[in-house]
Amino acid sequence: MTPPRRPRAVLFDCDGVLADSEMVVNAIVADQLTTLGWPLTAAQSRETFLGMALPDMVPRIEARVGPLPPGWAEEISTLIAHEMTMRTPAIPGAPEAVRACAAAGLAVAVASNSARAELVAKMRSLDLAHVFAERVFSFEDVDRPKPWPDIYLAAAAACGAAPQDCVVIEDSVPGVRAGIAAGCRVLGFARETPGGVLAAHGAEPFGDFAALPALLGM
Ligand SMILES: [Mg+2]
Repeated sequence: MTPPRRPRAVLFDCDGVLADSEMVVNAIVADQLTTLGWPLTAAQSRETFLGMALPDMVPRIEARVGPLPPGWAEEISTLIAHEMTMRTPAIPGAPEAVRACAAAGLAVAVASNSARAELVAKMRSLDLAHVFAERVFSFEDVDRPKPWPDIYLAAAAACGAAPQDCVVIEDSVPGVRAGIAAGCRVLGFARETPGGVLAAHGAEPFGDFAALPALLGM
């Protein structure tokens, strides 16, 4: 097999790829929804909303509990940002992989369905803010969140690379779909979602960041 062509840029999803934040976020969401009359555990919240941006969660929640209090999404986003500033657990090997890509001369960006304040807090907490610099993209920076391609197209442009010269690292189905729709090669980090499911949507699954340099032709 020929080794993979080295990309010009690597575009990282945040939650479940760099930050082991899903359980922190899901505990907060489950707590809020239980208060509103939809009793959920953190694990059930994860299954229900995996990879979804907050605005896409709102109609599903309102269908179940009725209209949400005004400013609910903003309030929960602030709560999550605060929690993430205190403590963002890293996915083992992921921050090191980002630094290795940058050191090898590849452009790196982060592209996430998180709110911007939350995303910035996570990058600071993971000590990656200076590595990504201004190449940090939230759903708030584009017209449409994942699974639309907008965030990855914006991230590729910021890296000065055509989408076909970029590799996207994703762990959820909406994220894989966004990367594929943007025209990027997508590597699927199989942790929250089985590799076979990610592959069915066009990703090449992998299970350990130690495998990433070889997958990127580094
Ligand atoms: Mg993710």
